[in-house]
Amino acid sequence: MLNAPSQSFPTPGSQQRVASGGRSKVPLKQGRSLMDWIRLTKSGKDLTGLKGRLIEVTEEELRKHNRKDDCWICIRGLVYNVSPYMEYHPGGEEELMRAAGSDGTDLFDQVHRWVNYESMLKECLVGRMAVKPVVPRDCREEKKILNGKSSKLNLSDVCRILSSPIPRARLRTRLPRKGLGLQVYSYDWFQTDSSVTIAIYTKQKDISLDSIIIDNQDDSFRAETIIQDYSYLIHIRLSHEVQEDVSARIVENVGKIEIVLKKKENTSWKCLGHPLENHNSFIPRKDVGLHYRECQLISKEDVTHDTKLFCLKLPPSSHLQTPVGQHVYLKLTVTGAEIVKPYTPVSDSLFSEFKEPVLPNKQYMYFLIKIYPAGLFTPELDHLQIGDFVPISSPEGNFKISKFQELEDLFLLAAGTGLTPMVTILNFALTRVRSLRKVKLMFFNKTEDDIIWRSQLEKLAFKDKRFDVEFVLSAPTSEWTGKQGHISPALLSEFLKRNLDESKVFICICGPTPFTEQGVRLLHDLNFSKDEIHSFTA
Ligand code: FAD
Ligand code: NAD
Repeated sequence: MLNAPSQSFPTPGSQQRVASGGRSKVPLKQGRSLMDWIRLTKSGKDLTGLKGRLIEVTEEELRKHNRKDDCWICIRGLVYNVSPYMEYHPGGEEELMRAAGSDGTDLFDQVHRWVNYESMLKECLVGRMAVKPVVPRDCREEKKILNGKSSKLNLSDVCRILSSPIPRARLRTRLPRKGLGLQVYSYDWFQTDSSVTIAIYTKQKDISLDSIIIDNQDDSFRAETIIQDYSYLIHIRLSHEVQEDVSARIVENVGKIEIVLKKKENTSWKCLGHPLENHNSFIPRKDVGLHYRECQLISKEDVTHDTKLFCLKLPPSSHLQTPVGQHVYLKLTVTGAEIVKPYTPVSDSLFSEFKEPVLPNKQYMYFLIKIYPAGLFTPELDHLQIGDFVPISSPEGNFKISKFQELEDLFLLAAGTGLTPMVTILNFALTRVRSLRKVKLMFFNKTEDDIIWRSQLEKLAFKDKRFDVEFVLSAPTSEWTGKQGHISPALLSEFLKRNLDESKVFICICGPTPFTEQGVRLLHDLNFSKDEIHSFTA
């Protein structure tokens, strides 16, 4: 489980062992796929050896179970006997054994915190760790400053302030952090007869609307402001009902975000609401957990013989824009188990930046998804009916648009659905990067029929002289007169010519793992530095 089930399968006949992002995947034996694991968990077999009993596990006890045939691992306080899962683990037995007899939470989070281990390992649950006395959260180093005066606030103080009859409450959280310097985050709220506005002060001058994720569902209002690897979270149960739609705007230059809620009734609110988990905290994103909202399938269009453009609609009470080059997770229940897989939102076409937006508040999310008939997730996704709901997570990813500062030459190497992150990158580069002189895309596919958005790419190259596209086919028909083969030194050295000798260059690469890994190796051989390359890996 310390690796992603989504990336777990060797392709038919393959026996490769590939490294990706420091992790490795091992060929799984016949009958050891994720589907086989799901079947085993449903077979009613006693996988823990405890005949369904749940026990309290002490640290001493946990340490004893550190062998392959008797391997217990603790994840977030719950202890699992992972021995039966060893052979099904995509990252191999060795990776699981790194956490044998100990707390594997950090290791798990480093690799793929989005994996739904609760569902996957349900039948392996041994019990929970015996509770040790804990230091209350509010006794930690965090200093909270109320109305400019330094004070240590505990949860009850926060509740008192939030529910006090004072119409405006201001809380500030001050945390010295490495890399971000000393930042002060705070929020405030005010009301008119018909609306309530929550203002978040970030002091980040370049904050954009994709830094804020808002959801108001199931009695929980959540506004997550993302700054680098941290989240500032407002999480409350509103004191009164509001209308469904929510809007957000940035007040330029001062780093203020305003969220406007429309009241259902024209009453005066005495307080904003009651704090929920992690309210008014500034914490590493990985500790916040991925938040999902139910999105409705609006349409599904064929793009190639096996790739479709899915359009999903966010609930009106959500605001979410995926930053350039990032991905989200879609969740489906497949034969009784919750499975999540990452997908990269795209625009509805390569030209959408030049069109009137269909909806000004960007409530639609588009995905280009290849359906693998023998795949676990995509056939299920393909079977969804228009109107069905799919939970979609908040975005994740480590792509940094700061790399585009002063950028002159952008090279994109994409294979198959590896085109998806390039769609928003292309849009961003062509519309927002003033220094840009040239963007070149080399797009690798098996056959002509597999090329996603071929005519759009060609049209874009025709319209915008800064953009060029080259198609390379690995299994062309005899009629194909263009480039052929796999990624190679010859193809790359010809393609990656800088505009000028000293021009600032950036290269993005995305596709099947062996393609990306080989590409990165070749780029290093061609003397491109690590800093000049971004590889999209699982
Ligand atoms: P899988 O079950 O993973 O199968 C994939 C292939 O392996 C199929 O050909 C299947 O036949 C074969 N296979 C399955 N089981 C076995 C087995 N036991 N033995 C041998 N072969 C087997 N994809 C997109 O289409 N669009 C995107 O925008 C996109 N974005 C992504 C973003 C990120 C960050 C990452 C990491 C991946 C992204 N992907 C995207 C890929 C996506 O997450 C899934 O991996 C993909 O959709 C396949 O899912 P699946 O469960 O249907 O197939
Ligand atoms: P595909 O099987 O149709 O292959 C497309 C091209 O990739 C081939 O024509 C070939 O040129 C190249 N290729 C394939 N296997 C290769 C190998 N072993 N060595 C060298 N080159 C190889 O591709 P697909 O089915 O569309 O798969 C796309 C892949 O991109 C998936 O694995 C998906 O997970 C990945 N992806 C990743 C992200 C991300 O952000 N990390 C986003 C989207 C897609």
